[in-house]
Amino acid sequence: MPVRNRLAEMHPEITAWRHDLHENPELMYDLPRTSRIVADRLTEFGCDEVVPGIGISGVVGVIHGRARESGKVIGFRADMDALPILEATGLDYASKTAGKMHACGHDGHTAILLGAAKYLAETRNFDGTVVLAFQPAEEGGAGGKAMVDDGLMDRWGVQEIYGLHNMPGFPVGQFAIREGALLASADEFTVTVTGKGGHAAMPHEAVDTALAASHIVVALQSVVSRNIDPLANVVVTVGSFHTDSVASNIIAHEVVLKGTVRTLDPAMRQLAHERIMALIPATAQAYGASAEIGYDWGYPVTVNHPEQTAFAADCADEVSGNCIRDVKPVMPAEDFSFMLEARPGAYIFLGNGDTAMCHHPAYNFDDNAIPAGCSWFVTLAERRMPLSG
Ligand SMILES: [Zn+2]
Ligand SMILES: [Zn+2]
Repeated sequence: MPVRNRLAEMHPEITAWRHDLHENPELMYDLPRTSRIVADRLTEFGCDEVVPGIGISGVVGVIHGRARESGKVIGFRADMDALPILEATGLDYASKTAGKMHACGHDGHTAILLGAAKYLAETRNFDGTVVLAFQPAEEGGAGGKAMVDDGLMDRWGVQEIYGLHNMPGFPVGQFAIREGALLASADEFTVTVTGKGGHAAMPHEAVDTALAASHIVVALQSVVSRNIDPLANVVVTVGSFHTDSVASNIIAHEVVLKGTVRTLDPAMRQLAHERIMALIPATAQAYGASAEIGYDWGYPVTVNHPEQTAFAADCADEVSGNCIRDVKPVMPAEDFSFMLEARPGAYIFLGNGDTAMCHHPAYNFDDNAIPAGCSWFVTLAERRMPLSG
């Protein structure tokens, strides 16, 4: 069965919500307008519970089915935040705030989940409860984790969680998913290497921090090449190397290195951390310097659970007729990973057509993907929690 008639009917209305969100982007946790609109809509649809302020500025909506015998509770998630980008789409509903833009399609995700909520609150053709999670700060602020920490799963008894993200490069409305790792983990480290500054012509009087830091950069290359399983996917990159010497005749006293670690495997993520923490001080010491490491654990690997992935793909197939089930993983990270660490679930890509990539100033969400997205959520609810008889 393709898109439901009622959802096709609602398409212009949902598109108008999306354009309004697009015109009024808000960043990180600072979403007063967006979260108010979401909460107002959910209330207007007749949700059984609407609770703002979960995970600082997240909004939770609860819809009970016609029956609740099954005891099942399914969570659906959408992200609400925009990006600090100057929009260059030329759209008539382009951002009204210079330097803020919905360049990742979260306006589309929010509109889609609102559309599904309206339909589900109207029809309630399921036996159980749907919990809607509209989260803040997906773009680097770990809003998904904030909602989990604030009781999203426990307070409402969520048993499974599902989410979607638009994906440029796939035909509009095409779904794509894979079991296991779909998006990477992203961690960062900052290393302060300290030696002893001095005259470049008298190196024997100094401890050359630039030399020690250079050997650290080289040593870090052995993590991927010598410690990580060659069949695993790991990146260790030192992206910034900054000495406190500004002249050719001064030996640096301090060097600050900044790097990132990306993996598709939680075990390799731990191993990379272990090796980085061991190599850096030992290498610094070998050159008479010392090193302090700040390790910032970012978003975990987004790992799709097998049973929920197969089910999500079946529902996508029902909507679109051709769901790709073994799409290649991608190396960006996603804080839905925290929700998948808390509960089994699945995250799916929804094709956005031949547009600019997410985070590009010319990117735009394709409104034609809305009915497929709404239908997927609705199908998940009705198939996972069918009414008996
Ligand atoms: Zn993004
Ligand atoms: Zn995004």
